[in-house]
Amino acid sequence: MLEDYIPIPTADAERYLRAGCWRRQTLAQAIGDAARRHAAERPDAIAIRDARRAISFAALLEESSRIAATLERRGIKRGDRIIVQLPNRVEFATLLVACAEIGAIPVMALPALRQAELEYLITLAKPVAIAVAPTYRGFDHVALARELRRRAPELRIILTTEPAEGGIDFGSVAEPGPPIGSRGGDPFDVSILLLSGGTTGLPKLIPRSHADYLCSAEACAAVCGFNPATRLLLALPVEHHFPLGAPGLVGALLSGAATIFSESTNASDLMRVADAEQITHLPCVPAIALSILGLAERDRHGFATLRVISVGGQRLQEPTARALRRVFPHLQVQQVLGMSEGLICYTRLDESDDVACTTQGRPVSPDDEIRVVRADGTEVAAGETGELWCRGPSTIRGYYRAADANRAAFTADGFYRTGDLVRQTPSGNLIVEGRIKDQINRGGEKISAEEIESHIIAHPAVSAAAVVAMPDPRLGEKVCAFVKLAPGGSLSLEELSVHLAQRGLARFKFPERLEVIDVMPLTNVGKIKKAELKRTIEIRLAAEHTKGAASAPAPRANVDLAEEN
Ligand code: AMP
Repeated sequence: MLEDYIPIPTADAERYLRAGCWRRQTLAQAIGDAARRHAAERPDAIAIRDARRAISFAALLEESSRIAATLERRGIKRGDRIIVQLPNRVEFATLLVACAEIGAIPVMALPALRQAELEYLITLAKPVAIAVAPTYRGFDHVALARELRRRAPELRIILTTEPAEGGIDFGSVAEPGPPIGSRGGDPFDVSILLLSGGTTGLPKLIPRSHADYLCSAEACAAVCGFNPATRLLLALPVEHHFPLGAPGLVGALLSGAATIFSESTNASDLMRVADAEQITHLPCVPAIALSILGLAERDRHGFATLRVISVGGQRLQEPTARALRRVFPHLQVQQVLGMSEGLICYTRLDESDDVACTTQGRPVSPDDEIRVVRADGTEVAAGETGELWCRGPSTIRGYYRAADANRAAFTADGFYRTGDLVRQTPSGNLIVEGRIKDQINRGGEKISAEEIESHIIAHPAVSAAAVVAMPDPRLGEKVCAFVKLAPGGSLSLEELSVHLAQRGLARFKFPERLEVIDVMPLTNVGKIKKAELKRTIEIRLAAEHTKGAASAPAPRANVDLAEEN
């Protein structure tokens, strides 16, 4: 087992095995078996397509087997970590399967992450390799990877999707290795490390085992109605748990469904792909749903084959859900409340429109346990709002190498404290009412306030900084920084952005508004009153909105979220 991994205790593991939600297979064995079956039944069926190429299930197995052999030849072995920072491309999937086959553990880093985040991940995960596309969205990822390798010699190998100086083009090797699934492995060991949004402090690593990941992907695939006729459009960055395993790519591979990758989240691009590929399922965040609704009527026909739009990552407002149903009457709206730590809730496809439009669903597995609790940990009365705690066959029992955080984030009996405020309806569905974690949810991307504050405070003109969420009609929330200046200091938003870029922070985390204040409001124990700052910016924005409403430009309906990152 991976050192420092906190597995689900044996008694619970045995219960999950007896219940049938866990099986004794690795991801490589399960995907290998499924892909062989689908290749035999439908040799011409596409397993994965991206903007450049498509591969069948048989080709997926063969390519993954070659990559597995390449990784082994380079000395990568079971338990070794590989930072994966790839765009939505076929190579992501083949590398994932190859890693699962040899027992290497991908650390799922977004392509948008930059030096600061990657260095932190390297310190924490001690990877031997990093996988990147040489240039993506104008950024030279290989140059950064070489710099990271220079600073951290244990990071020996740069894997690239195309030939690049200092990298190994991992798809180009000719010799195939043993079949996918043949090497075996421990189903209860870590298969992947996901990134948490960070409830406090810096993001944590989330160790997911083969058994728990398969269990969740299968349960989600069943709830979303995946089958071999499903054509899934994945536009959210696939390193996120929602497009990767809830049910996402993994659920699609297990179900024999076709996965169509998009590198763009622009609604017009999605419409064109949906039309060309006869897409049936689209997982997305509310901002994408809104931009789809913003398409001109003549462009909506592209979604004619779409059956299910699953919206999660952020609260979907009821009017948006109802508008989706009205504008696309053939479409079922499915809400999902999910977290990389494990619990996934979905509204069910056979439930009423009211449930789908007003709740965020219920757990996908009958073995998921949830509690809604007060601050003191006692359960609230039925229907009251409280913090959501969860435990179950796919929910971790601890972050990787984060003993202090684990003491705060998990109860003694293994429940994960989500930091989300919810209430439960009589039908068992959850409604998200807010959160108690210090986070900004920008269009579904989670940003840890503390992480940004630590970078802002490093600016010489700043004496105190607090970062809060400010409301945004399209992204739900954006980052607003409140700053108290050092004597004689001055700072503009542009200067702050330059400073954060120099510190190597991903762009999507940059504050989009700066408020300079004379006094930081503090509680009597010296903590910054964030709720007060949040109210201040909400009031200011509302006043500006009223004043500027007449002259304001029309909201952009059709934007690409990832480009903004
Ligand atoms: P992540 O692990 O990055 O997917 O983030 C998980 C968190 O996203 C949850 O704990 C919630 O705070 C938030 N979240 C996910 N889905 C929803 C939803 N449907 N409504 C409200 N918040 C959500």
